Amino acid sequence: MIVVTKHSTSEEEILKLMEELQSTYPVQIQKITGSGCTVLGFIGDTSTIDMMQIQEDRRVERVMRVSEPFKKANRAFHPDDTIIEVGGRKIGGKDIAIIAGPCSVESEEQIVEVAEAVKASGATFLRGGAYKPRTSPYAFQGLEEDGLELLKIAREKTGLPIVTEIMNPHTIDKFVEDVDIIQVGARNMQNFSMLKELGQTRKPILLKRGLSSTIEEWIMAAEYIMAGGNEQVILCERGIRTFENYTRNTLDLSAICAVKKLSHLPVIVDPSHATGMKFMVEPMCMAAIAAGADGVIIEVHNNPAKALCDGAQSITPEDFERVINKMRRYTALEERQISGGR
Ligand code: PEP
Ligand code: MN
Repeated sequence: MIVVTKHSTSEEEILKLMEELQSTYPVQIQKITGSGCTVLGFIGDTSTIDMMQIQEDRRVERVMRVSEPFKKANRAFHPDDTIIEVGGRKIGGKDIAIIAGPCSVESEEQIVEVAEAVKASGATFLRGGAYKPRTSPYAFQGLEEDGLELLKIAREKTGLPIVTEIMNPHTIDKFVEDVDIIQVGARNMQNFSMLKELGQTRKPILLKRGLSSTIEEWIMAAEYIMAGGNEQVILCERGIRTFENYTRNTLDLSAICAVKKLSHLPVIVDPSHATGMKFMVEPMCMAAIAAGADGVIIEVHNNPAKALCDGAQSITPEDFERVINKMRRYTALEERQISGGR
């Protein structure tokens, strides 16, 4: 449920109203000051609250029930777009975030070379998996802690903040210390105990959409993190399972429009995992911009043919340069910008 206050209501009166509501009803109230109005969002069980009674208050413009099960992630609670700042770079708003790097960190030489190349072309963040969720237990599982150390070296050399996937709640403290954005992979999107623990941190979380998750389930996963007090969540559409098997997954571009309508959280697109094929990365990046995405996360490898993971969908640094240059033209059409690399 949300209460919109009248324009004429002073800040002092709004705070008093909040206090009164909080002492009358068993809910938590969140105050959101948007452009032109103040919204009081009720979090908790609102089923027994008499809306008419609140509506009669002289300070209240309107009372509305929110039909969606998510609250903190709901745009009704927070009409303005959320902008997340990491190391002086923004995700959301006018800027298009460009996260690039290999699927997995393989060696110091590899990660530093890729980091330097993608930075020069315009990447604003470096990606690279240290702990890898592989379908086969016999496949390369990542360099784990050593991989985190190599990412830190690449950050030191380039200044790019690092994004990497967490697989186990026991490593949260280490990730909080070492990493700039913690990625929750598709396979862990509904690992609720891990989401709750990440909610206790104050690190930005990149939350990938589950392999077969609905948009509502995905936003509810973000709500788990936000309910704990960590409101810095970036959603990532990375393709879903459908009957189509030509591509690795099916990129659900319309999900971007849906999420933008339902939620204030930034949303980015992963064209690499969504398609599984390098030749589709470029057109899907342009499509992501047209659909209103706030950024992309792209797999880039200096030698895709020898990559230890996801070589078929990884583009070279030269391809990346071309993709970003084309994206700059598309982002300008949308009155947005890529601020890296210039
Ligand atoms: C990845 O980003 O390397 C990854 C494993 O992605 P996803 O969780 O989307 O499959
Ligand atoms: Mn990958």
